[in-house]
Amino acid sequence: MLEHKIPVELPAGYLNFFKNLESWQNEEMIKLKKVYTPDKKDILKALNNEKKPFIMQLNPHIEPAVFKDVLVRLIFFLKSARLEIEDKLEQISQQTDKLDYDEIIRSFLQMKYSIIEEIAISNNLPAELFFFVIDHAMRPLLRIFAEPYTKELISDVFYWDFPATCPVCGSKSHFSRLRTETGQRFMFCDRCFSEWKVRYIFCIHCGHDRPGDITFMSVESDDAYRLYVCDKCKGYLKTYDERPGGETTDLFIANIETIYLDLLAKEKGFTNHEQ
Ligand SMILES: [Zn+2]
Ligand SMILES: [Zn+2]
Repeated sequence: MLEHKIPVELPAGYLNFFKNLESWQNEEMIKLKKVYTPDKKDILKALNNEKKPFIMQLNPHIEPAVFKDVLVRLIFFLKSARLEIEDKLEQISQQTDKLDYDEIIRSFLQMKYSIIEEIAISNNLPAELFFFVIDHAMRPLLRIFAEPYTKELISDVFYWDFPATCPVCGSKSHFSRLRTETGQRFMFCDRCFSEWKVRYIFCIHCGHDRPGDITFMSVESDDAYRLYVCDKCKGYLKTYDERPGGETTDLFIANIETIYLDLLAKEKGFTNHEQ
């Protein structure tokens, strides 16, 4: 993997923290595969019929007790990785026996995030951090759930009407890669690690596809990371181009270490249509 220079300063330890978090999640996946073994279903048929993310169409059978264990282990990991917020993490720790995990899992998977926030508030917990720990404890489970479908989602037979939304978990994606041989674009979901195809000259936000209106910028130090922007809706999409960049890159980390591209996009008046 090439070393990519970062033209803006990220806070000290920021990137390392996310690298360690991802390693922790990888280790969790290995452990969890012994207790979480979702059945493989016909995802393409389900997505064609229902036009909504797969996980919202069925019960992924994530056991509350299993999720609680992951959450407790995540908080333990975070306490050593983020000493500066140990107090807030301890507040959450103290509530872990009382939380309604059934409701938390259901609300999170149905993307009813306001319910997660209400649970935090009613338990007197810091809401933003609470959401972060729920989100990141869920990820190893989502990645196990999504893993069997990797090949089908990038195959030629799959077409998806909602390019910015993960067809597996429903999460919004702001990151894509362009493949070496073909220049094919794949969207990447940083929650469940799914990838799905989208057209190259195409705005994932508004569907606009007039060639002259979809352009890209890159920063001087790095040609592999690009910002594709749409003239029509002012939307942007960060992209890792494997052609100059090389094939093996960690897209989760690539998304985080290119925060400078988000800043650049916003500075130039573009948006990812999130806020
Ligand atoms: Zn996903
Ligand atoms: Zn657009």
